[in-house]
Amino acid sequence: MDFKEKIRVIPDFPQPGIRFKDITTLLKDGAAYKKAIDELVGYLKDKEIDLVVGPEARGFVVGAPLAYALGVGFVPVRKSGKLPAETIETSYSLEYGKDALAMHKDAIQAGQKVLIADDLLATGGTISATLDLVKQLGGEPVAAAFLIELSYLNGREKLKDLEIISLVQY
Ligand code: 5GP
Repeated sequence: MDFKEKIRVIPDFPQPGIRFKDITTLLKDGAAYKKAIDELVGYLKDKEIDLVVGPEARGFVVGAPLAYALGVGFVPVRKSGKLPAETIETSYSLEYGKDALAMHKDAIQAGQKVLIADDLLATGGTISATLDLVKQLGGEPVAAAFLIELSYLNGREKLKDLEIISLVQY
């Protein structure tokens, strides 16, 4: 399947000069969404993953179905102040902005093999911050999986030791 055909590109969103990759057009197409998740599962099923971690909000849309298909748990990473129990936090910079991400302190057991999932890899800031949270709790990051990778932003280089899997590259 040509997933690029299913992704809508919106010029100048959320800021002038940014060509936003809108995945809602892929998500509303049941066959395309299923095929995208199934293809990622194909790359991941032999990696003995114990847990999937995904940053809000689009990381949930990719991470939760991967966790379900792999038969493992899902851990949400959220913006600061949203999670109800005790958290750990880390600050990070986005392609366009800055923020802090949080995870529940008891979300990961030391030694668990973790897959990080999100919709899109841009500069790698979000995933570096997520990786930091996983490592703070003693998790072992195995790979990171994305629907889309913006190769020209070199996010991969920021994540040197991590295997990066992406379905579509721009
Ligand atoms: P990074 O932290 O790698 O620079 O940016 C990736 C994060 O920003 C992801 O969580 C992703 O959801 C969001 N993001 C940045 N640019 C885009 C885009 O063009 N399309 C979508 N869907 N998300 C984006």
